[in-house]
Amino acid sequence: MDLQPYLQRAVEAVREWESEWGSFRRHPSTRLDEAAVRHALSAYTSRLRGNCPFFHPRYAGQMLKPPHPAAVVGYLAAMLINPNNHAMDGGRPTSEMEKEVVARIAAMFGFPAAALGHLTSSGTIANLEAAWVARETNDRGAVAVSDQGHYTHGRLADLLRIDLRMVPSDDDGRMRLDVLEPAVRRGEIGTVVMTAGTTALGAVDPIADVVEWRDRYGIRVHVDAAYGGFFALAAGDDSAPLEDETRRHLQAIADCDSVVVDPHKHGLQPYGCGCILFRDPAVGSVYRHDAPYTYFTSADLHLGEISFECSRPGAAAGALWLTLELLPLRSDEGLGPMLSAGLRAARAWHALLLESHVLRPYMPPELDIVTYFPEPAAASAAGVSQASQEVFERGAEAADEAFFLSVLRLPGDQFARRHSDLETDADEVRILRSVLMKPEHEAYVELLHRFVTDAAAR
Ligand SMILES: *Cc1c(COP(=O)(O)O)cnc(C)c1O
Repeated sequence: MDLQPYLQRAVEAVREWESEWGSFRRHPSTRLDEAAVRHALSAYTSRLRGNCPFFHPRYAGQMLKPPHPAAVVGYLAAMLINPNNHAMDGGRPTSEMEKEVVARIAAMFGFPAAALGHLTSSGTIANLEAAWVARETNDRGAVAVSDQGHYTHGRLADLLRIDLRMVPSDDDGRMRLDVLEPAVRRGEIGTVVMTAGTTALGAVDPIADVVEWRDRYGIRVHVDAAYGGFFALAAGDDSAPLEDETRRHLQAIADCDSVVVDPHKHGLQPYGCGCILFRDPAVGSVYRHDAPYTYFTSADLHLGEISFECSRPGAAAGALWLTLELLPLRSDEGLGPMLSAGLRAARAWHALLLESHVLRPYMPPELDIVTYFPEPAAASAAGVSQASQEVFERGAEAADEAFFLSVLRLPGDQFARRHSDLETDADEVRILRSVLMKPEHEAYVELLHRFVTDAAAR
């Protein structure tokens, strides 16, 4: 999809609608000098050149990529009008679109049609709402999250004065249920936060197993699927290269109390688009203490009544709506094949790393995040950190062969359990990490592998 003609068409369509309201004179104070515009715009765009090329497959670092052109066109068209999804009279069309896209996301997870949910400005705010609702609806004790959970949970617990218990993770980066269960059995834990796609390794916590405790122990289960949530589409596709366990846990999100997913990560949207969903619409009463009714559905509510944030961009809902019209949440078309391509790219790179004498994989990828490090000159953890840092820095300077990775810090003992042949001489080990979140990575991994290998061999 070519951006420019559709941008043009979107602007024209909005201008046409505007013209139907009759002409009026723009205030002179809003007028700008053309030369000044050209000058400022040129300064602006030249400063933007200082970014890494997030759009290019040679950028294989953090969770970053530009939105799909469909989202850009959708965002721009609504932004020209600037509806506020706080309330219906702030913008009925985009509020209705928000309910439609939220229903589609709920269906993707297998949540009931009555589930309550809305878009948020981020995964942070979505998790904040989940933590707030959990605190208000379950006064039994602490919240448990794994040590691989996002750092936002620690901050949110501080903010909401929630007792947070860190549960250690296993060597695959998944929460250790053997450690969690005794505390749950003793009634100390009110809510378990499971992560579907940890930020560092892309690990999926054993959600299905914790869901089984839900009724037995009366706990709430919240899933932080900000990053990995859309892989629920791949879980429903037998040809997607996911392990059976990963598939089972992603499918178990259907039975959890709440889930967070970030359309601004794997949902092709610009930043400013998170989403929170609650299975039981009755939790809406937490948002509106003065509500005259106790039963809520998104369908007959002003979204502002069930959202912690007040003003929210209607354009974000519009962008997501247009994107999902064209790229539906399906495993066999739309978003699904893009996610599967990333999964295959990660496995293909892992296979190349296994055969390499210059680079070594840290562990097999569970989703689309690959972790690896250069074989160090000195066979030690400190040697790994130094070699990783050097390759990371060389990548950005390699002209035609430039590449962009990220550096991941791991506790020394965690690293040592997987690579015991290397001397443990540091508390922390730095390795390399690549998030292969663009489908174009699949065709590019061989070249990327060569670039990184060349830089490491130098
Ligand atoms: C990104 C992320 C968050 C934070 O979401 P923001 O949208 O960056 O605020 C929380 N948890 C997980 C697992 C994430 O990947």
